[in-house]
Amino acid sequence: MLDNLTGRLSTIMKTLRGEARLTESNISDAMREVRMALLEADVALPVVKTFIAQVKERAMGQEVIGSLSPGQAVIGVVHQELTRLMGEANVDLNFASQPPAIVLMAGLQGAGKTTTVGKLAKYVREQHKKKVLVVSCDVYRPAAIEQLRLLAEQVGVEWFPSSDQDEPVAIARAALEHARRHLFDVLLVDTAGRLAIDEAMMQEIKALHAALNPIETLFVVDAMQGQDAVNTARAFSEALPLTGVVLTKLDGDARGGAALSVRQITGKPIKFVGVAEKVGGLEPFHPERMASRVLGMGDVLSLIEEAQKSVDQEEAKKMMAKVKSGKGFDLEDFKMQIVQMRKMGGISGLMDKLPAQLTGQLGGQLPAGADEKAINRIEGIINSMTRQERSKPELIKASRKRRIAAGAGVSVQEVNRLLNQFETTQKMMKQFSKGGIGKLMRGMKG
Ligand code: GDP
Repeated sequence: MLDNLTGRLSTIMKTLRGEARLTESNISDAMREVRMALLEADVALPVVKTFIAQVKERAMGQEVIGSLSPGQAVIGVVHQELTRLMGEANVDLNFASQPPAIVLMAGLQGAGKTTTVGKLAKYVREQHKKKVLVVSCDVYRPAAIEQLRLLAEQVGVEWFPSSDQDEPVAIARAALEHARRHLFDVLLVDTAGRLAIDEAMMQEIKALHAALNPIETLFVVDAMQGQDAVNTARAFSEALPLTGVVLTKLDGDARGGAALSVRQITGKPIKFVGVAEKVGGLEPFHPERMASRVLGMGDVLSLIEEAQKSVDQEEAKKMMAKVKSGKGFDLEDFKMQIVQMRKMGGISGLMDKLPAQLTGQLGGQLPAGADEKAINRIEGIINSMTRQERSKPELIKASRKRRIAAGAGVSVQEVNRLLNQFETTQKMMKQFSKGGIGKLMRGMKG
């Protein structure tokens, strides 16, 4: 994936070494590299232009925080923007319709539609525990119907028989009728593609869409198509109200620019990616992970994330003011800290980063192996408290403890443990208010 981008970003890291602030000129140099890399990776020019402009805007004037180098800071911005470009978060299939939820596949011949129907059938059956029916409306490509029958057999879902003597719309209607009568949850509809976009094909898929009124209309596109993928995506998104994209053959794609373009062009989320020919070779698409993969700089990226999260300066300042104003540190603040801790990889992760001197002082009061679950429980307990209890924890006596424990679905001992942890933290906060939170935060990153 975009090997070149990784290479070029290393150059950026070198170019920007030692600069304390990101400025117009040093960012411009860096952006030239990013721009070249994206174009070489076959990302569409308008997409590249918008992307570069956004990165520039975001990066400009940014302080280079903590231990990061300016180059790393720029890569951080590039990573965030790449994630945004590809849609922020994963979007799963939507089944919120009267059953059966109909999923219509659209795309060029060879894009991987039939294979994807098989993969999706397996995914929906296994992950969503749904009863799936598949049908092929591809009456043109020889053996397309048979190919789907074999796939259905392989993944253990029902296949609705069709023949190349039938009308596509008639097949779809019959399959829908069958799905309704036999209480299928999901109907996956494969359609014909042609080698190039033509009017007849578009009319046919529009007619299928009108007849089925699917809740999902997925555009299947071959990642190896490069620039052409963009044109195809545009044509399909103009013809059909697409709801999502499946990007296939990502395993074979050396450049991967399509992943960056199709989202922008269609305005629809990439829901899945095909990563192998076999039926298991389908993955939900995670923009953030893809951005990391594209940048191929796992280490640098986690370093950046840590630095950005731990130096959540606004929060730290507020907390500091609170401690200084003598108002004290209450359970509400404690909860906020816990949330921060989660961002930093849990309590155990945090313990690793705290200076040894401090962890020694805590004397193992914080559970060493505490994980995500423990953090969730702590949050749950605090959520079960009233506002008054949060600001005056000393109010929490036996009967309140029982109520809180019941509300959070934990034992009273757990509530006690949390209150002890809170007290320890409170002491720690007081201590550090002398040395300053900045010192504490710097310690964490060390
Ligand atoms: P359709 O014409 O759109 O139905 O395309 P097919 O489903 O027949 O796929 C065309 C070719 O691409 C077949 O040889 C598939 O095995 C292959 N294919 C589809 N998806 C993937 C994928 O994610 N990775 C790889 N390596 N091959 C794929």
